[in-house]
Amino acid sequence: MEFINTKTILTKVKNGAEWYGVDFNMNLYRGCSHGCIYCDSRSNCYHIDNFDEVRGKKNALYILEKELSKQRNRGVVGIGAMSDTYNPQEIKYEQTRGALKLLSKYNFGVSIDTKSDLILRDIDILREISAKNPCIIKFTITTPNDNISKIIEPHVCVTSRRLKAIQTLNENGIYAGIMLNPILPFITDKENDIKELVRLAHKAKAKFIHTYMSVTLRENQRDYYYQKLDEYFPGLKEKYISTYSEKYICNPLEYKRLYQVFIEECQKYGILYKMEDIIQDYKSNFKNEEQISLF
Ligand code: SF4
Repeated sequence: MEFINTKTILTKVKNGAEWYGVDFNMNLYRGCSHGCIYCDSRSNCYHIDNFDEVRGKKNALYILEKELSKQRNRGVVGIGAMSDTYNPQEIKYEQTRGALKLLSKYNFGVSIDTKSDLILRDIDILREISAKNPCIIKFTITTPNDNISKIIEPHVCVTSRRLKAIQTLNENGIYAGIMLNPILPFITDKENDIKELVRLAHKAKAKFIHTYMSVTLRENQRDYYYQKLDEYFPGLKEKYISTYSEKYICNPLEYKRLYQVFIEECQKYGILYKMEDIIQDYKSNFKNEEQISLF
């Protein structure tokens, strides 16, 4: 793996309440090899060349430790917003595992976005963090159907394995649930799929499901997505063009009705689905925010 120079790892987040209550963000790798056909991170605006190639950040743990030790306020650190931190290179380089150890050492909470069950390797440290500070694991799952997930997220484990990982994490006392994002119009926007996914989430003991009910398309990322539609779903590109033209946020045609169905299913199974409730719930054992924000 190539390593790239970086001066900083940790960045402060201003609007954390909109995104699972995180206070900081970090990405230990640049690029992602999971190959999701809809990935927003491959958009030109992020300036990541060869997005599918994972590169490590040089001296990431050394820089991170210096940054963590200097923070006056503790909080929750988000990992994986721009690339899945549990990529195949992580097996050898263990940058994520090392970073989690540092978060535990310096008394920070963590919020991880992933699609990979490689995260199960780090249950020991996640348990350690969960005992002291808020910890939330968000598995992105976009379809209940393994065959569809193999097409739209080709280089990472399929839905059924992600659901198993959620169950294992929760059984180990680690708060884990589902980000149902994106929903792909004409592909994963069937009412029955949404119902089935909520049912499977319940079966896997997921603590929550959250969705924005849309996919975002822009610039070169739209071109990549359309190329993949031509490859795997012939005729759909034309349907997208006639329905959405150059729109950035593309909602399923019946998204309001679908969202209602989603809510009813979540309520039926007692699964949290509102962002504010999820934040409140995973931080509930740490009510006294000062406990983590003052050091
Ligand atoms: S896992 Fe996330 S960052 Fe990686 S390709 Fe898929 S959508 Fe993009």
